[in-house]
Amino acid sequence: MSWFSRSKTDKSGEAPAKPGMAKNDPLTCTHQALAPRWDRAEDMGKTALATSFVCEKCHHPLTPDEGRAILALRA
Ligand SMILES: [Zn+2]
Repeated sequence: MSWFSRSKTDKSGEAPAKPGMAKNDPLTCTHQALAPRWDRAEDMGKTALATSFVCEKCHHPLTPDEGRAILALRA
């Protein structure tokens, strides 16, 4: 009778889409979770010297100008 219990316990591992969980779309994302990136290790930690930014929510890359503009708005 293993086939009977199997249908109940079998989980595909695919999480059902939740209506409240909006997909992180770069077009609608406000990129508030910006992570600065640095080419040079010695510049790390200095936002003004960041060579690029990446949004941690939608993974959209931003130029240093775009990133600093968003950070300036948030500050
Ligand atoms: Zn974003």
